[in-house]
Amino acid sequence: MQLEVKTVLNRIQHFVGFVYQEVRLRTQRGKLHIEVKIEPHQSMRGRCSECRRPAPGYDRLPERPWLFVPMWGIVTWFLYAPRRVECREHGVVVEHIPWSEGQRPVTIAMMCFLARWARRLSWRETARAFQTSWESVYRSVEWFVAWGLARRKLEGIEAIGVDELHWGKGKRADNFLTVIYQIDSHCRRLLWGGRRRTQASLRRGLAALGPAVVGGLRFVCSDMWRAYLTVIAAKAPQAVHVLDRFHITLHLNQAVDQVRRAESGRLRGRPLAKKLKHMRWQLLRRGSRVRGRAKQRLCGLLRSKLATGRAWMLKETFQHFWTYRSLSWASAFLEVWCGWALRSRIEPMKKVARTLRGHQELLLNWFRAKGEISAGAVEGLNNKIRVVTRRSYGFRTYDAMEIALYHTLGRLPEPESTHRFC
Ligand SMILES: [Zn+2]
Repeated sequence: MQLEVKTVLNRIQHFVGFVYQEVRLRTQRGKLHIEVKIEPHQSMRGRCSECRRPAPGYDRLPERPWLFVPMWGIVTWFLYAPRRVECREHGVVVEHIPWSEGQRPVTIAMMCFLARWARRLSWRETARAFQTSWESVYRSVEWFVAWGLARRKLEGIEAIGVDELHWGKGKRADNFLTVIYQIDSHCRRLLWGGRRRTQASLRRGLAALGPAVVGGLRFVCSDMWRAYLTVIAAKAPQAVHVLDRFHITLHLNQAVDQVRRAESGRLRGRPLAKKLKHMRWQLLRRGSRVRGRAKQRLCGLLRSKLATGRAWMLKETFQHFWTYRSLSWASAFLEVWCGWALRSRIEPMKKVARTLRGHQELLLNWFRAKGEISAGAVEGLNNKIRVVTRRSYGFRTYDAMEIALYHTLGRLPEPESTHRFC
């Protein structure tokens, strides 16, 4: 028995009311492509694209191509001349075409195929691998994401993390975006992303989630960014607001780095300056993770009584804070640590201490929420998102990048009927 392409097509993609008429292999400018001609089933009427009910035929439009999933790496097209039907309710309309979505020149199967590959490869690589354009990969992912967003369920969300992200080049307000994650232990995903990092951005995000979701929140995790604090206090007063560990460590690290830069500037040309050379990454690591020669140099630096060494010690000591079980001990430690930092005569560390003191209540909420939210959730999602935004140098627009974020981190539902293609 010989296998016909039609047999394969009927097995993987059978459309009720339509038949695969003819399959041809063609050459155009030295390149092979496959054309699959489709005809309506003779004894079945077309369906109205509005209400999907069968309706009497009216006329036929000219033949149109749709890009299908490539077979054996050969670009494959569906060709079909759509009928127009006269629906009793909707008048003369184009029939419902099950492989097509609006005016798009790509079949639904191919859009799903491209969109799934666009998660494993960059969009440019996907376009190249399947001999199509960047634009059609973009449009496919866009459709795929819209489909998922329209069908996702926002139930049982108890903990969210709010974060600001930088993307692209430059520090303009438009180069930032606000993201909202779900950080419940049973589900971690991106819920929303929007332009800028203002109060208005976060308000828009919470509005998009809807009052039922916001009203049901028990924990909100964020950085000490003033705009976010204000909005969260106003919109979700019932939730425990936690300043998360990841961001606090980030602030401490930034302070240490500032001290190091200032000090190596002051010491330029003097022998002590050597102690600070090539130490940037070692200083930003957790002490227990610095090993070998780097550890020896770090110890040397600490003995030298340089401000950088003292700043590093302060940062390192603060890690104890997170290990307390009791709220009152943690609070006592915070008090002592801030005292040290404020007497250190190192301005960046003093600044961190003042900020932490100013947000003491929110900081101690960490212990009130302990066990309920995962410490690494925000950091983990943050790292994943950076992979996408970095890849996004290829994305020419903000919109494309936002779609890519939902696509990779949104855990959106997917059209199931097309799973077989990849
Ligand atoms: Zn109708």
